[in-house]
Amino acid sequence: MIYLDANATEPLRPEAREAALAAMDTLGNPSSIHAPGRAARKILEEARETVARACAARPADVIFTSGATEANALAIHALGDGRKLLIGATEHDSIRAAAPEADIIPVQANGTADLAALEALLKAHPNALVCLMAANNETGVLHGIEAIGALCAAHGALLHVDAVQAIGRCNQDWLALGAASFAISGHKFGGPMGAGALILRRGLEIKPLTRGGGQEQGRRGGTPPLPAIAGLAAAIGKPYPAAQIAVLRDEIEAFCIAQGAVALGAGVPRLPNTTSLALPGIRAETQLIALDMAGLAVSAGSACASGKLAPSHVLEAMGHAALAGQAIRVSLPWSATSAAVEKFCAAYAAMAKRALRAAAALA
Ligand code: PMP
Repeated sequence: MIYLDANATEPLRPEAREAALAAMDTLGNPSSIHAPGRAARKILEEARETVARACAARPADVIFTSGATEANALAIHALGDGRKLLIGATEHDSIRAAAPEADIIPVQANGTADLAALEALLKAHPNALVCLMAANNETGVLHGIEAIGALCAAHGALLHVDAVQAIGRCNQDWLALGAASFAISGHKFGGPMGAGALILRRGLEIKPLTRGGGQEQGRRGGTPPLPAIAGLAAAIGKPYPAAQIAVLRDEIEAFCIAQGAVALGAGVPRLPNTTSLALPGIRAETQLIALDMAGLAVSAGSACASGKLAPSHVLEAMGHAALAGQAIRVSLPWSATSAAVEKFCAAYAAMAKRALRAAAALA
């Protein structure tokens, strides 16, 4: 199987696997005061220090969660209290679902946030919580957090950044760029599934979503997922061959365009590993099934949507409603090779030829 669905989950890094297994073999709950509890606590606090270093934050400002869905929900719950919520049109469902009453910040046809529209919204709601992602999970398009952070600061608004797809691939100091908080998820950069974090600006106090045992300094009740956290910390900050991955992605993109595909969100700063490729007239599902049968794992839209295959709200927001049900996402993992790219291209060419011929015969 050739795996090109890294935006759904990156392959586990060996260091992360090792750290997670070692933590699994550690007896004790980090909240217990006996020796095994203290051993577990040591793993937790060392992981917190590593994550803080990688995120240019203080350990006290790292709140471990079960993943980014929870980190995003916590940010909106805690920072959005009493504030108007403004969210990007192409945000992940974990943001959209946590902010159903939000006003939408439109994006331009290239997928980047419409800054004039954001400014108008901020003028109307200066006390807002703005949620914009660093990089989009379907297209890889980067929003340009620096300009957004400056706009939010100028209007006294808070900014929460979903940095899930950017961290590890396209790192920035989001706090220094004006974010009040940002969310990360271990399995999107080679850690195990089940742990993420909300990183807070220094000194920002938040109220918890879950209370219970008072873990995470009372900001996130619940026993922390120690093995997944240890794995997350082992994976964070590991070297990422961005330039090499971008070359492989560009090869795939150029090849697919030559077969009749349209690359959506290309032409603006993007993640190095992602391309969104529509094949006009051919349903994404048809493409996915044919590629799966040829041993290739790619997806349509976000992983959360891949089970239901609804047309992508991201592509619709970019004005590509007609192509929204016809695009597949190819997202290369950190471990991608040119042999995998060759195999993908051969399978894509065969799939496109067959599908386009069948569509033409029906027309
Ligand atoms: N935000 C983005 C941009 C994502 O791609 C995802 C995962 N698809 C999430 C949030 C949710 O992350 P998790 O799987 O850790 O809940």
